[in-house]
Amino acid sequence: MTAKIIDGKQISANILEKLKKRVAVCEEHGHRPGLAFVKVGDDPASQVYVRSKMRACEKTGVLSFERFLPEDTTETRLLETIEELNQNPDVDGILVQLPLPAHLSPELIIGAISPKKDVDGFHVVSAGELLTGCTGFRPCTPYGVMTLLEEAGCNPEGKYAVILGRSNIVGKPQALMLLEKNATVTIVHSHTPDIARFTREADILIAAVGCAKMITADMVKKGAVVIDVGINRDENGKLCGDVDTEAVKEVAGAITPVPGGVGPMTIAMLMSNTVEAVERNLGIRQSV
Ligand code: NDP
Repeated sequence: MTAKIIDGKQISANILEKLKKRVAVCEEHGHRPGLAFVKVGDDPASQVYVRSKMRACEKTGVLSFERFLPEDTTETRLLETIEELNQNPDVDGILVQLPLPAHLSPELIIGAISPKKDVDGFHVVSAGELLTGCTGFRPCTPYGVMTLLEEAGCNPEGKYAVILGRSNIVGKPQALMLLEKNATVTIVHSHTPDIARFTREADILIAAVGCAKMITADMVKKGAVVIDVGINRDENGKLCGDVDTEAVKEVAGAITPVPGGVGPMTIAMLMSNTVEAVERNLGIRQSV
């Protein structure tokens, strides 16, 4: 039997639909949610990402604010822009599209965002809140993965989860979120010998490395839930993930496709964090 396909595109569309109603309630309380997009330079991939996030704003009724700056923007100018947005009462969330040009430090720039508006969940305050189990903004990609698991009927409690990759934006926060849900977690990375030894035991396997089709069928336990975060190009220039989906489908119990898996969920969770920022300010709680 082939694996169930976890349809991130559909799940994300359902989330955006529900968010529309939450946005309407915020408006009834006198505030329309607003999300600011800060982009420096003309990186083509960044333009595509920003455009799709702005489309999600349109779909949900969230206002978007553009701060598109030239490639040679100075650190001072960028910090002034962030401060203006921190002070702007119409802006509830600030997204700085990464990567930044090499002369700008992402740590410094992200660190300048008010933690109250850190809807990407990259600020050290948000990272600390996740680490200590406090309420805070969760980074959108791993948060989206948790939502996919839930939607696929996969409760992590008591399961063995293996994550490939240990970045600050995916691997590490993913491990913390799975621990929060009582999974037993292993992270493997580029210095781990014999990765397959771990992956073959995993009930939940999450690949976030950026290596096209690295996870092959012999690395996957029968019936495992496989989440593919990777975005790569294959030998024909076609979009693909870190998992050899066609082959792994024959072994896994459930699997996310690329495209149409984790990608749309990252955007849905960004919108969800933005609406949540407003709900916190207004002191209203709405069910997701
Ligand atoms: P990073 O490059 O920051 O991290 C990659 C991680 O993978 C590192 O921890 C690295 O190990 C590990 N790694 C690399 N090669 C290997 C290997 N051969 N074996 C084992 N581990 C390896 O990437 P990100 O976390 O930012 O992104 C990972 C992937 O997910 C990318 O393809 C990216 O495009 C995609 N992505 C997708 C998103 C979405 O919305 N769908 C959002 C964010 C990312 P080490 O630490 O030792 O170097």
